[in-house]
Amino acid sequence: MKKYHLATYGCQMNEYDSAMIAQELDMCGCVETNNQEDADIIIVNTCSVREKAEETCGCMAKNRGPELLKRLKNVNYIVGPDQYRKIPELLFGDAQSPLHQTHHKMFIDEDLSENYLGEYAKLQNDVSAFVAIQRGCNKRCSYCIVPYLRGPEKYRDMDDVLTEVKRAADKGITEVMLLGQTVNAYKTPNADFTTLLTKVSEIGGIKRIRFTSPHPRHYTNELIDVLLNNPKVCHYAHIPLQSGSDAILKKMRRQHNMEQYMTVIEQLRSKDPYYAISTDVICGFVGETEEDFEQTIKAFEACQFDTAYMFIYSPRKGTESYKETEILTPEEKLARHTRLVELQNAITLKRNQMMIGRTEEILVETSSTRDATEFVGKTDNFKKVIFKPEEGRIVKPGDYVQVKIDDIRGWTLRGTLV
Ligand code: SF4
Repeated sequence: MKKYHLATYGCQMNEYDSAMIAQELDMCGCVETNNQEDADIIIVNTCSVREKAEETCGCMAKNRGPELLKRLKNVNYIVGPDQYRKIPELLFGDAQSPLHQTHHKMFIDEDLSENYLGEYAKLQNDVSAFVAIQRGCNKRCSYCIVPYLRGPEKYRDMDDVLTEVKRAADKGITEVMLLGQTVNAYKTPNADFTTLLTKVSEIGGIKRIRFTSPHPRHYTNELIDVLLNNPKVCHYAHIPLQSGSDAILKKMRRQHNMEQYMTVIEQLRSKDPYYAISTDVICGFVGETEEDFEQTIKAFEACQFDTAYMFIYSPRKGTESYKETEILTPEEKLARHTRLVELQNAITLKRNQMMIGRTEEILVETSSTRDATEFVGKTDNFKKVIFKPEEGRIVKPGDYVQVKIDDIRGWTLRGTLV
């Protein structure tokens, strides 16, 4: 019985792919270990989206495979994202098979048909399950490497998605997170994203449905209606903005403008002012003028994001914008970033303070690392809340409890069980 260790770097899609590999290896009779010293097999599943991550964490097989095989002598195989099904065969297959020939150490070809058909990921915890519904991306944002590495969009068959959700529900999981690079672009011959959300909500045992990341362009009126009126679909979305300037959005090839973006935000918040929205933004994109940046400041003031991931632009080799000449110095980019972070910090605090006094249903995730008598969970709108049950009251991960939010420390809400 071989022990394997999976080290995963990157976003939820990478975590999901690792869970898929774990399931394959478990089916071969292997056992997962958290301790790499103890492992017979170590699999490093890495990300290439940010150049910094690629430098520090290793690589993305597809992006730098040949170079890595030469450099890292103790690496046996380099396997690209579409080739994960080969891993058991590489590890345990017939030594005479072509896969085992010494010159075959790299399997990085794109497979346009790979859409997880018939595969189900290993559950990662007892509370919540990731379920991928899409691979790749059809957009071509000028700064982004993802479409070159993950290829065009491939949608997972709806029945496969529903089977995976049902398997999780049968094991007591009540929250599911649907994953895709532009998740709301999901489309198969018999379903779109709205249909899929509705079908997932009909699965017994599922109480909360989340998804990430939607693209502003793919919010239809039908989708907004389900998002606001299906009680199982949570009132939180991470909607990447990237810039508040239409000129920069165009340069980025984002396929949306500020008016479309604001319409989505206003629709979501018109019915529920507590609808939580987070975003990604790039400060100092190539060609960003002072006026463009002011538009981003205005957009942040108008959108009142609950949180934001704010990045300083750095050219990514292999992308279209890499070729363009930068006009801003690193200091100028940093100054813009600092200003935006300060603005957003104040907005985040205000949005969190709005929650004080409300009684919310919390899905308990874990006990607190600082104090084992305290628990951490999330509201429907994805706010982290810490609470301490009174003595004798048993609370465990996976429970739903009612908590009155009565305090905020730093960014974190605190409450009392009711
Ligand atoms: S939508 Fe744009 S930023 Fe997002 S993965 Fe696709 S190309 Fe990259």
